[in-house]
Amino acid sequence: MALSGLDIYKHLPKTNCRECGFPTCLAFAMALAKKQATLDKCPYVTEEAKQKLESAALPPMRLIKIGTQEKILEIGNETVMFRHEEKFHHPTGIGFLLEDDLDENKFKGQIEQINKLKFERVGQEINVNLVAIKQTKDDDNLVNKVKIASQATDLAFILMSNSLNALRKSLEILKDKRPVIYSATKDNFEGFSKLAKEFNCNLVVSSDNLEILSDLTAKISSAGFSDIILDSGKKPLTKKISELTQLRRLALKKNYRPLGYPNIVFVEEDDPFREVSVAASLLAKYANIIILKSIDSWLALSLLTLRQNIYTDPQKPLQVESKVYPVGTPEEKSPLLITTNFSLTYYTVLSEVESSKIPSYILAVDTEGMSVLTAWAAEKFTAESISKTLEKQKAKEVVNHNQIVIPGYVAAMSGDLEEQSGWKVLVGPREAAGITNFLKSLKV
Ligand code: SF4
Repeated sequence: MALSGLDIYKHLPKTNCRECGFPTCLAFAMALAKKQATLDKCPYVTEEAKQKLESAALPPMRLIKIGTQEKILEIGNETVMFRHEEKFHHPTGIGFLLEDDLDENKFKGQIEQINKLKFERVGQEINVNLVAIKQTKDDDNLVNKVKIASQATDLAFILMSNSLNALRKSLEILKDKRPVIYSATKDNFEGFSKLAKEFNCNLVVSSDNLEILSDLTAKISSAGFSDIILDSGKKPLTKKISELTQLRRLALKKNYRPLGYPNIVFVEEDDPFREVSVAASLLAKYANIIILKSIDSWLALSLLTLRQNIYTDPQKPLQVESKVYPVGTPEEKSPLLITTNFSLTYYTVLSEVESSKIPSYILAVDTEGMSVLTAWAAEKFTAESISKTLEKQKAKEVVNHNQIVIPGYVAAMSGDLEEQSGWKVLVGPREAAGITNFLKSLKV
């Protein structure tokens, strides 16, 4: 049974030293009970207390590590149902299904296509994570395809086969890469879990029925293996979302250990538009790994963008450093545009300035990551904050003119800003899309 905050508190040092990041030992105990903190944050817990608190110290959903150190994919270890409570920690792994009956050239070509699915967005690289290789022919054919794939990509692997012989040979090729074996069922779990333990890799446990699934994971973990990923089978979308929600709730709210593992889902729709919309729904609630069929750049980019948005901290918007950024190779007479340091705003402005082909400077004002209108309403993007930033960033030494361009939405601050900063204020377009035409018409 889960320990209450007071049960945990009895075993803490009660010195309120704050090193765990909480104001008191009691506050830390309460956070531990709610699985919002981990016991290792307190350096003063005795060994005896650690043993007693073991169940409280375990995360409600196990952390699973797939792949090599350089390109490791970590999934699970989530602590909340909703993103407004706390950020989600480990982004959903996105991968592609390859069947081993493809001829070698086509197989290599598909891996090359998957390798290319990486993009830069708001200053971050976003990329896909996994290749799932499914056996459809004899054992040697799978082993051969695994050999080819291991040399062609450094993404993480899922090996899908019912043959222990084919899996063993494939794992020998992928040793040290901590792949995933797919999958243990009620008929084969003993052999599969032994193999996963021997090769120190991860194991998917499958059943359409949640009771059977939890019996299986309990048996496997009591035999000493816990690097488990759950697969509750293919279901209609609404049923699947409701089931994934139920799995997460049982793990996080009820601390139900047999289902306290991350999950995997396969999306195999014939229509790629349907495929991406199903995958997007599952990404939102609550898939930990999604395996797709269509290897398409637009499809991967849509899902990676959605993933990037879901797995950011809602209380800490993505921000760029507050400073003057040169775009192209600007000179002293080049325009100086003012915007906020919210990544999405900054990169939108940047991309419009780049496409204008007019070398310019952009000054990003620290608005704690808020966009223009929000920051203005919150009094973070004001005549005073812009003036101070111009001074702090020595803008007068960057350009030899006296003009700045502010976003059209904050035109109302022009007079005040001119007075406070001493710069001549030009009002730019309201939307970033108007920047190209605005810059072309500008006389500096
Ligand atoms: S670090 Fe340990 S002793 Fe210090 S306040 Fe936190 S729980 Fe208490």
